Amino acid sequence: MEIIVLRLGHRLPRDERISTHVALVARAFGANSIIYSGQHDSGLEASVKKICENWGGLFHISYERNPLTFIKKMKDTGFTVLHLTMYGISLSDKLNALKLHKKLLIIVGSEQVPRDIYEFADFNISITNQPHSEVAALAITLDRLNKGKKIDFRGKLSIKPSARGKVLEKK
Ligand code: SAM
Repeated sequence: MEIIVLRLGHRLPRDERISTHVALVARAFGANSIIYSGQHDSGLEASVKKICENWGGLFHISYERNPLTFIKKMKDTGFTVLHLTMYGISLSDKLNALKLHKKLLIIVGSEQVPRDIYEFADFNISITNQPHSEVAALAITLDRLNKGKKIDFRGKLSIKPSARGKVLEKK
């Protein structure tokens, strides 16, 4: 399954940290790339690229000025659009249906999400119907879609799991 994450409405400086966490979660839990809209942020892009250089994988980040045009383009190329929102249908109720799709665009918001996004989405999906965070919602969704599968990034840096220590391996 090809998965692209779209992070709407990145705001400087307010979203610097959380957008970075959205990107790190997208990468670590199996998405192929992240696109962000809102304010362009070369610092965000640089920190994500640095993580990829050190920890491996083919994940990439890019900026999109017009998210609605982008979403339409992705739909035209066969992507199914999954919008994460506390107002949506529970992920558990739609997980099997979602797994039938080969290409997913997963959208997370920041500020108030425009009505059009709800209309364009093929699935408006909630992780509980409580307000929480795009980072948590994305992590749980990706983990459920990937069935907790461990991904081998083959990076310069890797960790040898340890019961108590911190074992960092450098290639
Ligand atoms: N105030 C914004 C609004 O109502 O559109 C949303 C703020 S919320 C902190 C930011 C993003 O986190 C949302 O756009 C959504 O993508 C995600 N999110 C928060 N709670 C969620 C939930 N219970 N289920 C799914 N996604 C959630």
